[in-house]
Amino acid sequence: MRIFKFGGASVKNPDAVKNVVRVLQHEGTENTLVVISAMGKMTNAFERLIKAYTESTDDVKPALEAIKDFHTEMLDGLFDKGDEVYTKVMYLFGELAGRMAINTSADYNYIYDQIVGFGEILSTTIVSAYLTKIGVENQWLDVREYIKTDNNYRDAKVNWELTETIIKEKVDTTKLNITQGFLGNDGEYTTTLGREGSDYTAGIFAYCLEADSVTIWKDVPGVLNADPRVFSETELLRKISYTEAIEMAFYGASVIHPKTIQPLEQKQIPLYVRSFDDLDREGTTVLKTEGITPEVPCYIVKKNQILVSISAKDFSFMVEDNISDVFKKLHDCKLKVNLIQNSAISFSVCIEDKFNMFDTFYDELKSFYTIKSYRDVTLYTIRHFDDEAINSIRAKGKAIIRQINTETAQLVIQEKG
Ligand code: ASP
Ligand code: MG
Repeated sequence: MRIFKFGGASVKNPDAVKNVVRVLQHEGTENTLVVISAMGKMTNAFERLIKAYTESTDDVKPALEAIKDFHTEMLDGLFDKGDEVYTKVMYLFGELAGRMAINTSADYNYIYDQIVGFGEILSTTIVSAYLTKIGVENQWLDVREYIKTDNNYRDAKVNWELTETIIKEKVDTTKLNITQGFLGNDGEYTTTLGREGSDYTAGIFAYCLEADSVTIWKDVPGVLNADPRVFSETELLRKISYTEAIEMAFYGASVIHPKTIQPLEQKQIPLYVRSFDDLDREGTTVLKTEGITPEVPCYIVKKNQILVSISAKDFSFMVEDNISDVFKKLHDCKLKVNLIQNSAISFSVCIEDKFNMFDTFYDELKSFYTIKSYRDVTLYTIRHFDDEAINSIRAKGKAIIRQINTETAQLVIQEKG
């Protein structure tokens, strides 16, 4: 049994969908479970719809139209008018409109999951229908009947025991199965596993089915040592150990979703990252080994960070009790801490404010602490650094914090211009 994952870029237009089919035909269409994300940038488009909907603005209609137009163009590029998939897709849009009309909840995260999930449902419906049309037999699975989670919407936690039982029992591993990434179900409603969560979905299925491998198909040749959008020179990593991949994901490498590696590591299932454009290339393998091959510095960049220095108003030391106080507030405000630095009277954290909660955090602490913040700074992490690597990052702006360990150097940079 193999698990394949295709992200949004691999189904961004009709030709891309045809290419997915080419990949499947090249690799074989049996004993495979394919996890697919929403098409192209549709999740972002759904997020715009959700924002308009929850804020009751006039943008609901145009946002919904943009999503409809995108999928209609997709259908027109893949099917003849009158194909039954048009009715299926129309039905899904009807269901979406119905959900929005009858919703009475004010819980943003709940609403988000109920709406955003249509991206994956639409995408897999279309790909599955296209496979059927060209004669490739396949089984469309509603992942929400398989992956069971808690009700922490937008960041749901998997109920492993239940999920494993269901998957083992219900997935026909001899077939070509097509299912959605990113989604789960809390027993009643749709949940999501966090943005970019489809890799994790592949990991969950692999773990539960004890798959032979997971392949993530991408528009890049594999895992590179740096983001080519930020760095002009990059190198392909051929082999990465599970531990290294977890470290890299922990520091924010976006090639593999952070939670994906753990289930694979536990069952020693290799993860291949391969190019869907170049099927002869080997790509990257994540497996049980040491470090990385070749051994080059790896750069991880996190933009839009906030660096906050916190000190007690009475100049008392920043020690256990006030630090735990600060951490509790960070946790309550869902602020993600990416770096910590402590001195006697000040405690600094580099944080990510995904949920726009920094102002709340600030207001709650400002009467007890002096808080200094630098907004819009960048956190650079270099695994397997050398002097040259550090200097190249320092040249990018003013280094506000520098932290160096055996394997990892981290710099918070206020970038020029
Ligand atoms: N479609 C979701 C997202 O864009 C999940 C994924 O692509 O992995 O976040
Ligand atoms: Mg996506």
